[in-house]
Amino acid sequence: SDYYQFSDLLSLEEQALRLKVRECVERDVAPIMTKYWEKAEFPFEVVPKLGALNIAGGTIKGYGCPGLSVTANALATAEIARVDASCSTFILVHSSLAMLTISLCGSEVQKQKYLPSLAKLDTIACWGLTEPDYGSDASGLRTTATKVEGGWVIEGQKRWIGNSTFADVLVIFAKNKDTNQINGFIVKKNASGLQATKIENKIGLRMVQNGDILLQNVFVPDEDRLPGVNSFQDTSKVLAVSRVMVAWQPIGITMGVYDMCHRYLQERKQFGAPLAAFQINQQKLVQMLANVQAMFLMGWRLCKLYESGKMTPGQASLGKSWITLRARETVALGRELLGGNGIISDFLVAKAFNDLEPIYTYEGTYDINTLVTGREITGIASFKPVA
Ligand code: FAD
Repeated sequence: SDYYQFSDLLSLEEQALRLKVRECVERDVAPIMTKYWEKAEFPFEVVPKLGALNIAGGTIKGYGCPGLSVTANALATAEIARVDASCSTFILVHSSLAMLTISLCGSEVQKQKYLPSLAKLDTIACWGLTEPDYGSDASGLRTTATKVEGGWVIEGQKRWIGNSTFADVLVIFAKNKDTNQINGFIVKKNASGLQATKIENKIGLRMVQNGDILLQNVFVPDEDRLPGVNSFQDTSKVLAVSRVMVAWQPIGITMGVYDMCHRYLQERKQFGAPLAAFQINQQKLVQMLANVQAMFLMGWRLCKLYESGKMTPGQASLGKSWITLRARETVALGRELLGGNGIISDFLVAKAFNDLEPIYTYEGTYDINTLVTGREITGIASFKPVA
């Protein structure tokens, strides 16, 4: 999958991190992932292994976080996704959504209090924006925060929140009843009135524990209100950045799928010849390879724009949407190439095929990200139907 020699684009540190993560996930995650995926259980045994990689917290500097370059963080994401997308989603929700929000929008005291143990994966975080009736239209969310003596009372519901069934720290967004603006809060696992129930029967990312959260009269002390979240725009700032990392999941997934298909076509024979000998199969494989090269280069350029402070939200959205679309196409070709084995989860491809579906939808669906880019290049927002 490294046909255009991407390594030449990477620093020695980035190459070393990429190798370290690849070795870890191939050794510690690959042998067990299908078992957990089938059972839709989270592989807690993997958490200390991922913690030892020292990648949680990604680009955050200080507070025990690794302070990686954006590119290094992206490569680590891709390497995990190359072997298992659920594990990469787990770390992205924890690191690129929850930790990043605390880092960008938290007070100094909050950063010192929460980030060090989150960086070691000694504690786990989740990030709750979406609600049952407010998905793409997240800015309309209905969960409320009411000011009371010494803190806030949160009332409402959240849906789809990854890691929420076991998270120690829940970053929750709610509408301030006085200002009608969105605020952010750190809710702790054992808060009275908090309940998270696992969403069952997912067809993709089955190891990720997505939950429905019920917040009934949950008290959050003043010290756990995130001072930097004062409007929906503040959540969008986090999303624009985390979308770059999410774009690297499909890159990793398709690299793994391409490599697997390449091997499979050499090994399996039909009509007395390896599957790789048939022109139609070669055409599919080449199309997959071309997609992987283009996806990587777009993702890499996005990282460079981000690192130089020039990346716009529209660019991040285009990266997430276009790369995920290409990945869906690529993995579907891989599924065809494996014939019947392409629908069995023991083979990487069927699992990847399913795992891409939620990735196509979360962090802004393909359509919503397209509209974010569309607004940026035309100056016209077209999210709401014109009456
Ligand atoms: P809807 O908003 O109901 O959209 C349905 C369809 O309508 C989509 O095709 C959409 O593109 C289209 N659509 C909607 N509005 C428009 C429009 N204006 N113009 C054109 N088309 C439109 N959220 C969190 O807060 N935290 C998490 O950790 C988290 N993890 C997730 C993990 C998984 C596995 C999944 C599936 C979701 C997760 N989400 C999370 C929620 C995710 O961000 C939402 O599912 C997503 O924003 C889409 O919302 P929805 O599912 O309600 O779809």
